Amino acid sequence: MQYQRSSTLFKAAQEVIPGGVNSPVRAFKSVGGTPIFVDSAKGAYLFDVDGNRLIDYISSWGPMILGHVYQPVIDALTQRAKKGTSFGMPTALETEIARLTIEMIPNMDKVRFVNSGTEACMSAVRLARGYTDREKIIKFAGCYHGHADAFLIQAGSGAVTFGAPNSPGVTQGTAKDTLLAYYNDLESVRTVFEQYPEEVAAIIIEPVAGNMGCIPPQEGFLEGLRALCDQYGALLIFDEVMTGFRLAPGGAQQRLNIKADIATYGKVIGGGLPVGAFAASNEIMNHLAPEGPVYQAGTLSGNPLAMAAGLAMLTALKEDEEMYTRLDQKTERLHKGMEERISTTSLPYQINRFGSMISLHFTNTPVVDFASAAAGDNELFKAYFHGMLSEGIYLPPSAYESYFLNDALTNEDIDFTLDGFDRVIKSL
Ligand SMILES: *Cc1c(COP(=O)(O)O)cnc(C)c1O
Repeated sequence: MQYQRSSTLFKAAQEVIPGGVNSPVRAFKSVGGTPIFVDSAKGAYLFDVDGNRLIDYISSWGPMILGHVYQPVIDALTQRAKKGTSFGMPTALETEIARLTIEMIPNMDKVRFVNSGTEACMSAVRLARGYTDREKIIKFAGCYHGHADAFLIQAGSGAVTFGAPNSPGVTQGTAKDTLLAYYNDLESVRTVFEQYPEEVAAIIIEPVAGNMGCIPPQEGFLEGLRALCDQYGALLIFDEVMTGFRLAPGGAQQRLNIKADIATYGKVIGGGLPVGAFAASNEIMNHLAPEGPVYQAGTLSGNPLAMAAGLAMLTALKEDEEMYTRLDQKTERLHKGMEERISTTSLPYQINRFGSMISLHFTNTPVVDFASAAAGDNELFKAYFHGMLSEGIYLPPSAYESYFLNDALTNEDIDFTLDGFDRVIKSL
């Protein structure tokens, strides 16, 4: 495949946009090479500016769960656009999508719409702090909750204590309120609570992790978090920005049958437009402005175009719950096919899957947390990524990302992918 036009466009972009991209993972830094500029997409396919067709396994990092240019969303958008694109005043559409959201997700009474997953998580933490009158939060090494200061904290030298900021610009003051624990390690969470029994406002977690590859929670882990939160009077925040409306209509809460106190959403809920949301019980949500003292606002929050796209998307998902079974089966077909082929080679590998999230790690050790994900061989991953790309298959350009399948993928697309996969792994 040729990428001349992408190359030229990337050079031009770098002159006026830092790194040539508006979100770092797009820059191919961890895999090398030139990012691919998209011209258009349809269903499961991306068409780049050089005329290549790629089968899409990232689905815009989740939102395109029904495939690209999904007609009901496009229709809703075009109709709505003719009536005006932003007013800074309420519309009936906001109540409609809020109602549908509350109907689809378990345990929540009210929802507030924002413009991104970052905003949703940041606001959820502020609300949890305001509600509990406590300052600290617990997050897990390797979990991503957007780019707000409080979340850009990773494991330091191993001690479960004050987090060390891992982005310049995040202050020590902020970092000291983010306490770190380890995914699938309940003891690490218990240790933090024992150190700060009355200071933890909330635990925030990806109920199925998707930002260190796909890492499912082990039996009893989330249940244990629920119990610890109840014991210590902290709130449990499920960051369902990836899992919401993907693992089930009601996300991980429904699929895993665990109740969160606050849940955050993004990605699928906007149908491809910039939308985030957070939801909780009346008791918690009543603390939010203008009803309560916890401030949160947004000029474009509840934007009519975004709400129209989201409403069309959620309506489609609610009306076709079979979609979830289909999507899981497609992901299982991919999983089995990859497993069959790679197991005949001498390559180290682990394949993690939960629902329509799946990741391949080049390591022999089970991948259950950030440290085991980081043990994967990144040189192998780079060669694998570029090999698959030259077969016409677009995978996440980072070993720390899950694939997100979409319902437009056919069994033929998956078999085509597996044929390419076979050639690529034999060449590694
Ligand atoms: C993508 C993501 C976010 C951030 O959402 P943005 O819309 O990119 O701000 C937060 N949490 C999780 C789990 C995500 O996957």
